[in-house]
Amino acid sequence: MKIIKIEPQGFCGGVVYAINMVEKALAGENATKPIYMLGNVVHNKNVVRAFRERGVIVLEGASRDEMLEKIDSGTIIITAHGASDKIRKRAREKGLNIIDATCRHVTKTHELVKEKLSAGYGVYYYGKKNHPETEGILGISSAIILVSDDNNLDKLPKCEGKAILTNQTTMSYLEVYRLYEKLRRIIPHLELAEEICDATRRRQEAVIAQKGKIDLCVVVGDTLSNNTRMLKETAEKNGIKAIQVEGAAELDNYDFSPYETVGVTAGASTPKNIINDVIAALAAIKNTSPN
Ligand code: SF4
Repeated sequence: MKIIKIEPQGFCGGVVYAINMVEKALAGENATKPIYMLGNVVHNKNVVRAFRERGVIVLEGASRDEMLEKIDSGTIIITAHGASDKIRKRAREKGLNIIDATCRHVTKTHELVKEKLSAGYGVYYYGKKNHPETEGILGISSAIILVSDDNNLDKLPKCEGKAILTNQTTMSYLEVYRLYEKLRRIIPHLELAEEICDATRRRQEAVIAQKGKIDLCVVVGDTLSNNTRMLKETAEKNGIKAIQVEGAAELDNYDFSPYETVGVTAGASTPKNIINDVIAALAAIKNTSPN
């Protein structure tokens, strides 16, 4: 079995930024204790566990509002996925110290949505229901229409005036265009502002480029990570068989004997050591040759 490492791998800029913000808070920079995270700073259990062990308290709840109501003092870290202005305002009202680890790509989408709403646009947002990034965007205005998949598009509210479709930064870029074409059949004047971040797009393009070259794509990353899940979906939608594992131990659940060439890709929040462990474990399987 031949193993192909599908680049790029390792943390994206947004994850590096978010981790650095938590490190600075732990070092005492602009942070009063206790230090809370408004959910998982990035979607990787290993990264979050390491911060927990160093004293960061990870808030849990059905929404950012609910999490925020659990605390009354200290520092709150807004995760890489962002939060609405309403959440920031509430945190300030409660006297909390705010550290904002929002990825700049997410901030850019917030600004775009606000600008379009001010210009009188009806805004359709393609994103995963209940994902923190989607929650943050929907928190901008109740007028935003969530499109979570391409089922029942004809049942969505129709904006007669100017209308635009935009998206969560970590969706499949091919699906954004497919969805736009479908929605345009219902709303012909619909415009598109595609907002896939570079890290997500480059990883998806790299997987698609392996079509016909690999028999199996092993996607390494947390099940909570949307960009990781999209890598698996991208592979499958392009005819490449794919599995997703969070770490090397899960490889034991699979039989690799039918495959001659296996590609390894990883989500933008998967630590390099975990990817390397997976590659090493694959290489330890009989008759493999890492590329
Ligand atoms: S995957 Fe994209 S949007 Fe998410 S943190 Fe990384 S760069 Fe930002």
